[in-house]
Amino acid sequence: MTEEGQEATVKTTCPYCGVGCGVLANVAADGNVTVKGDPDHPANFGRLCSKGSALAETLSLSDRLLYPQIGDKQASWDQALDLIASKFAATIEEHGPDSVAFYVSGQILTEDYYVANKLMKGYIGSANIDTNSRLCMASSVAGHRRAFGSDTVPGTYEDLELADLIVLVGSNLAWCHPVIFQRIEAAKRENPALRVVVVDPRRTATCELADLHLALKPDTDVALFNGLLSFLSDVDGLDRSFIDQHTHGFEAALAEAGPLDMAKVAEQTGLSVRDLATFYTMVARTEKTVTVYSQGVNQSVVGTDKVNAIINTHLATGRIGRAGMGPFSITGQPNAMGGREVGGLANMLAAHMAIENPEHRQLVQDFWQSPKMARRQGLKAVDMFGAVRDGRIKAIWIMATNPVDSLPAADEVALALKHCPFVVVSDVSTEVDTLPYAHVSLPAAAWGEKNGTVTNSERRISRQRRFLDLPGEARADWRALCEVAKRMGFAEGFNYAGVDEVFAEHAALSAHQNDGTRDFDIGAFADIGQQDYDDLTPVQWPARAGEPKRDSRFFAGGGFFTKDRKANFVAVETTAPARRQRAYPFVLNTGRIRDQWHTMTRTAKTARLSSHIAEPFAEIHPEDAAAIGLGDAELVEVKSPHGRVVVRALVSEKAQKGSVFVPMHWTDQFASKGRVDAVVSPDTDLFSGQPGSKFTPVAL
Ligand code: SF4
Repeated sequence: MTEEGQEATVKTTCPYCGVGCGVLANVAADGNVTVKGDPDHPANFGRLCSKGSALAETLSLSDRLLYPQIGDKQASWDQALDLIASKFAATIEEHGPDSVAFYVSGQILTEDYYVANKLMKGYIGSANIDTNSRLCMASSVAGHRRAFGSDTVPGTYEDLELADLIVLVGSNLAWCHPVIFQRIEAAKRENPALRVVVVDPRRTATCELADLHLALKPDTDVALFNGLLSFLSDVDGLDRSFIDQHTHGFEAALAEAGPLDMAKVAEQTGLSVRDLATFYTMVARTEKTVTVYSQGVNQSVVGTDKVNAIINTHLATGRIGRAGMGPFSITGQPNAMGGREVGGLANMLAAHMAIENPEHRQLVQDFWQSPKMARRQGLKAVDMFGAVRDGRIKAIWIMATNPVDSLPAADEVALALKHCPFVVVSDVSTEVDTLPYAHVSLPAAAWGEKNGTVTNSERRISRQRRFLDLPGEARADWRALCEVAKRMGFAEGFNYAGVDEVFAEHAALSAHQNDGTRDFDIGAFADIGQQDYDDLTPVQWPARAGEPKRDSRFFAGGGFFTKDRKANFVAVETTAPARRQRAYPFVLNTGRIRDQWHTMTRTAKTARLSSHIAEPFAEIHPEDAAAIGLGDAELVEVKSPHGRVVVRALVSEKAQKGSVFVPMHWTDQFASKGRVDAVVSPDTDLFSGQPGSKFTPVAL
C-alpha cells in the first residue's frame, strides 16, 4: 500500500498464469495505476503478455463484492463468521468431519492455502480440501510421485533456452503461457540449431514456432511416447549407466511399450511413419531435449499415464536435471504450485508429505500440535461435488473459484449446490455464477490488495504485494479462515499477527525433521521476520537452512525421493482412446484463448482484451462442417449427455477432423448458452482424479 498522495512503484507478481511474471505496479499521486514487466524478475525479465500488460485496466470496483452477506442481506463480518463457524461445527458434530469440505483455488496465495489446509486436515480432521488446480495439473503431480517419489519439477525455465530440442506436448504456450513462448522465440533466434516440435491435435498458434507439428489423434500420447521408448532402445539411444544406477523398472516399461512397430504406432496415433521417424530420430540424436507438457497431457482420463510415458523417455536417456534437458510440467494457474507445497489437495499433506504415510502424518500433527489429523485421502474435486449432490457433504466453503461454470458437468454441480444445506462463497466479484448459491458470501481481497506469496512452474516463490487499499470490508482469505477457526475453538493454532508469520510457519514445517529425504524445503525462511518477508526477492526452492543456494535443478546425479533414492519407470499400457459413440460422434476439446482468463470476471473488464475474440466459438474442420451442412459463423449446438452450448462455428483447417474445440471462458453472464463445461464429461483419471476435459464425445 502506498502513502496517500505519493507516487510509488511496487514489485509484485502477475495473478494469471503459472509463468509467474514479475510486475512493477506504479501508483501515481492521483491513484492512477499503470503496470509494466519487472526487468529483474527471473521469470520474465521485463516481458509481459497481453493479459499481464492489461492488469491495470481490470482494477475497477464496478462489480466488487464489498460486504459480507447472509442470504441476500448485508451482514457484519462477526455475524457471517459466527454463522459459518456454528454451521460447520454443528455439521461436524452431527455427521462427522467428512461431512464438510473446502473447495479452493490456484488463485489464492500460499498463505491462504496453508491456513485452509491446516484447519481442514489438522483441526477438523478431514482431508476434504481440494482445489480447482485439480483441473489443471493433478496428473502431473501423480506422475511425478509415481516416478520420483515426490512432486518435483526437475528443471527451470532457463533449460528451455539451453536446449537444442524442445518438445511441446499438449501445450499451446503461445496463448496460455505467452512469456515462456517469447523466451523460446528469443532462444530460437540466438540458437539456430534449436528445434521445436509441437504435439497437439490442433494447429495452434504455438505451431508458428514449430519445425515439426505432430497432429496426433486425441488421447494417443502414450502410444507416441511408448513408441519413442522402443525406438530409443532399438537405436542404442539409452543411457544404460543412468538406468542401472538410478532407476527401477526399465525392462518392464520397455516390455509394456513392446517391440518397435512404426506402422502400428502410426495407426494408433494417426501420424505418418515418416513424421514419427523424424521425431524419434531428432530425440535420439539430441542430448539437450526438454519435453514440456501441460493441459493436453494432464486433462485426460489417462493423464497420469501420459506423464509417466514422457518421463520414462527422459529416465531412459538420463536426460534429467541437467542444463537444457528434462521433463517439464508447466502449470496453468498462478499458484497451483504453492497449493501443492502446502498440501492443498485432498490426497496430499503439507510440505509435500504423503497423507498415506503414518510417519508423515505424525510429523505434521506434532509440528502443528493439532488435536486431529486426517488419516486418509479426502474427496477430489469432481467426487467432492458428487458428494455434495448425494448429501454426504452438507457444508462447503468455496474460495476464489467458480465451480458452477468451470467444473465438468457444470449443470449438475449447480444442482448439487442448490440442494446443499450450507454453502459459503468467498470471492471478489458479484458476477460469479456460483455466488447465488451461497448462504454466506464473503468479500475477498483482489490482486493489488492482498499480500503473500505464489510459486510458479519452475518452483520460484515470488511476492504478491498490496498497493491498493482494501475496498469496502474486503479481507484476505487467510484472515477469514483464522477467524472461523478461532470461533470453532481452535484459537491456539491460528493466532497469526501477520501473513509473514504464516509463511514462516510454512517454511519451518517444510524443514521440520527433513533429513534430505523430502524435496520441498524452504527452511532458510523459517525465522523470517516481517521486514525480510516484505523485502523477499524471487527465490527457487529448495532453500534449505544453513546451506548455500545450490543448483536449482533436481536429479542431475539421481537422488530421487523414493526410499532407495532411485526413480521408477512406470510400465504404461497403450490404451485406445474412448470409443466415439454413434450418438456423439465428435470429440470436444476445451481450452484457453489468448486474452481471457478463466470465467472472465477480470479480463472481460477490458475492451482491449475482449476485442481479441469477442464471443465463444466452435472450431471445426471444413469437411466435418460440410458433412453436417454447417457454414462458417452459423450457430451450432454442441451437446453431450451432460449439457449443451450454442456457439458460432469457426470453420478452420486448424481443427482435426472429428474434433471440435470450444474455449472454456464464457459463462451465461457473457454469452447465452456459452458454458462449455456444462457439456464436458466428469470422467476422471484413475490416479489423479483430473477430469478428461479434452475428450468428451459430443454431437453437433
Ligand atoms: Fe501473466 Fe502469464 Fe502473461 Fe506472464 S505470461 S504476464 S504470468 S499471464
